[in-house]
Amino acid sequence: MTDPLSRTHAIALDAADPLRPLRNEFLIPRHNNNEQVYFCGNSLGLQPRGARAHVLQVLDKWAHEAVEGHFTGQAQWLTYHELVREPLARVVGALPSEVVAMNSLTANLHLMMVSFYRPTRERPAIIIEAGAFPSDRHAVESQIRFHGFDPATDLIELQPDREDGTFSREGLAKAFAQHGSRAALVLWPGIQYRTGQAFDLRHIARMAHAEGAVAGFDLAHAVGNVAVDLHDSQADFAVWCHYKYMNAGPGAVAGCFVHERHARTSRPRFAGWWGHQQETRFQMGPEFVPTPGADGWQLSNPPVLALAPLLASLELFDKAGGIDALRTKSLKLTGFLEALIQARVADTLQVVTPSDPAQRGCQLSLRVVGGRERGRELFEYLAAVGTLGDWREPDVIRISPAPLYNKFMDAYRFVEEVESWRGV
Ligand SMILES: *Cc1c(COP(=O)(O)O)cnc(C)c1O
Repeated sequence: MTDPLSRTHAIALDAADPLRPLRNEFLIPRHNNNEQVYFCGNSLGLQPRGARAHVLQVLDKWAHEAVEGHFTGQAQWLTYHELVREPLARVVGALPSEVVAMNSLTANLHLMMVSFYRPTRERPAIIIEAGAFPSDRHAVESQIRFHGFDPATDLIELQPDREDGTFSREGLAKAFAQHGSRAALVLWPGIQYRTGQAFDLRHIARMAHAEGAVAGFDLAHAVGNVAVDLHDSQADFAVWCHYKYMNAGPGAVAGCFVHERHARTSRPRFAGWWGHQQETRFQMGPEFVPTPGADGWQLSNPPVLALAPLLASLELFDKAGGIDALRTKSLKLTGFLEALIQARVADTLQVVTPSDPAQRGCQLSLRVVGGRERGRELFEYLAAVGTLGDWREPDVIRISPAPLYNKFMDAYRFVEEVESWRGV
């Protein structure tokens, strides 16, 4: 039996990894003639090799068929967004009719709030986590103002009850009980971007519903990372982007989920012709009849060129055997990284992300002991040697080993580099 924290063992883990061939399906950036150790899948996932072919296929179709491209062949543009629907539904654990790829994350969040944030005088508030991603905070704050309410009283930002900046179940339950009766909407992250804490969607949705509030989720850091089981969670809606763990490229077309029970809702919505009933869309009538399900929130005909890389990426999720197979590897990979950090560089890096694997995805947020200056120094050293994480003010380095393309040796090399920096 080899030492479970040795280089030999890291190599053995890679050799035994059934998902190892998937790494070859990605373009790994180079650093001084070596492959970079890339841990920024939480920010921009790597490019699937198939992305270029899918984009070229659209360009070629446009070149040869021009407007006819809308109506010919399996990848016709008229229904192109439907090609991503089923594989995407598998990744997020939803019915195909509950998901749609459209717009961008923040735009989808606004569209969802138009329908699902309906404040009243008695119940005007939105609950989010303190320190939420700025775009989410801007979105909810502006929605509260848009409805004539006051963010000073009606934007409720829950403070983490644990010292490390994470939430306990009891802390959350207490906060929901305290504020729930004033809340029209709870908007909660699947995984908090700064701490990496993962939440049980079903638990959050149940608490929100028990208080009479709508449960919406921002899954930017959760989709493609952990199983979110959206349908069973009973969430009312969810939004996410596809450029992080979904590897669909910078500014990729985003995702949106509306639970089946709202498929034929009479709630208000901001409408566009692509949300109109498909069978009668081209009769070009003046009256809006929404297509049932998530598709009914579409505004415009989809940006086909931008959808093409998403199609390439989704093929790899299926090839991996789905999100559960990826998660199985991810638990081992992040567990290996954490064990190495604890054993070898615990005097330099303190793990902020919960140690319970059920409360995290692949990301570990690492606080550098000794403060911001030292943290920046380490971060810059790591980047200079080709080990790329990302920096979050004031003193956190985020390291996200993505199970689709990271190896156990990547985790090993990271810890080795931290050691050599410390040794200098
Ligand atoms: C990445 C991320 C965003 C980014 O929003 P875009 O509309 O895609 O620019 C928003 N919210 C969260 C929580 C994120 O992690």
